[in-house]
Amino acid sequence: MASNPHLSSRLQGFGTTIFAEMSALAVKTGALNLGQGFPDTDGPPEVAEAAIAAIRNGHNQYPPLPGVADLRLAIAEHQQRFWDVRLDPNTEVLVTAGATEAIAATLLALCEAGDEVVVFDPTYDSYAAGIAMAGARIRPVVLTAQANGTFGFDPVQLREAFSPRTRLLLLNTPHNPSGKVFTDEELSLIGELCVEHDVIAVTDEVYEHLVFDGRHRLLSAYPGMAERTVTISSGGKTFSFTGWKVGWATGPADLIAAVRVAKQFLTFVNGAPFQPAIAVGLRLDDSYFSQFRRQLEQKRDLLCSKLGQAGFDVLTPQGTYFATVDIRRLGFSDGIQFCLGLPELAGVVAVPSAVFYQDRKDGAHFVRFCFAKNDAMLTEAGDRLITAFA
Ligand code: PMP
Ligand code: GLN
Repeated sequence: MASNPHLSSRLQGFGTTIFAEMSALAVKTGALNLGQGFPDTDGPPEVAEAAIAAIRNGHNQYPPLPGVADLRLAIAEHQQRFWDVRLDPNTEVLVTAGATEAIAATLLALCEAGDEVVVFDPTYDSYAAGIAMAGARIRPVVLTAQANGTFGFDPVQLREAFSPRTRLLLLNTPHNPSGKVFTDEELSLIGELCVEHDVIAVTDEVYEHLVFDGRHRLLSAYPGMAERTVTISSGGKTFSFTGWKVGWATGPADLIAAVRVAKQFLTFVNGAPFQPAIAVGLRLDDSYFSQFRRQLEQKRDLLCSKLGQAGFDVLTPQGTYFATVDIRRLGFSDGIQFCLGLPELAGVVAVPSAVFYQDRKDGAHFVRFCFAKNDAMLTEAGDRLITAFA
């Protein structure tokens, strides 16, 4: 992208997000959109009805800065029910405008200019921009494809990424775009290094209920981590209402208070009628959460099977709603060119994983497909890819 002279030096190099670009390409070409990660069906009707009732019942003015009290309570109850974490809803829970604002506010609140933030690369696209806006520097540790078809990292490289300038480690598990779910052993090492270097951890867990293989583990549960971890999630993915943008940050009161200072000058507050509705969602029976996971697991299996039949090397994800393929077996090497040509070639839109890497070469041959779509669309998209490539 050509640089824009109006952009500050902090934001030079950041263009339009790949999600907006690829969704626009899908609209322009009429191709099936497996690019941007959003579900094509709405979430539970009782959650939608709760938002409608909240609008009708006058929940339409600014909610309190830390979030509606009942939502904060529901978040604390959820963390206790699923992850055995006890939180004080008054001091240890902050409601935000999606996970995106929680991440940005945490980076802005906690980083000094020149501080380093360790991340696993590829990263969700707002991380590099958030770190840049905070005046900090990104220190990537690259995840590579392992022989068993999952992504992993070299512990030596992780150790070397920590320095006296490291302020934060920003972790995403389950991980977008790779679909990796960090293991007990990996989280133990990450926790040890954070304690050893007195580093604060920030974890993005928006796919916490979408783990198909293994289980979701919280970094805050590891020795010495509860007092140094800001845990972030949102209702977008779990309840299939990505446009509502109700997220949260939880953790020790002093860290949450710091994040709140930055958050109040970003949006102040958001989503008055959506906050009580997400509280209804968080209190749904266990069966909602297990059914949601099972449905997405079946979709994963459906799409991955089609991608395999089309001839791609498929890196079957353990979690999230994205599957990654290696395009080299089909004779391609540049995922960006591949994705730009895919609507014409196959009538499908996907996202080139290269854009999530700090050095695009590291992910040049990976392409990400979203499977949070109805089965007929996944089947049709899969069949189109099989016709085009197999
Ligand atoms: N983190 C990750 C890893 C994501 O995939 C997304 C997109 N849902 C977000 C954060 C943003 O979440 P929200 O829409 O709640 O801001
Ligand atoms: N999280 C979604 C993805 O990875 C998209 C979010 C967005 O469009 N900003 O595709």
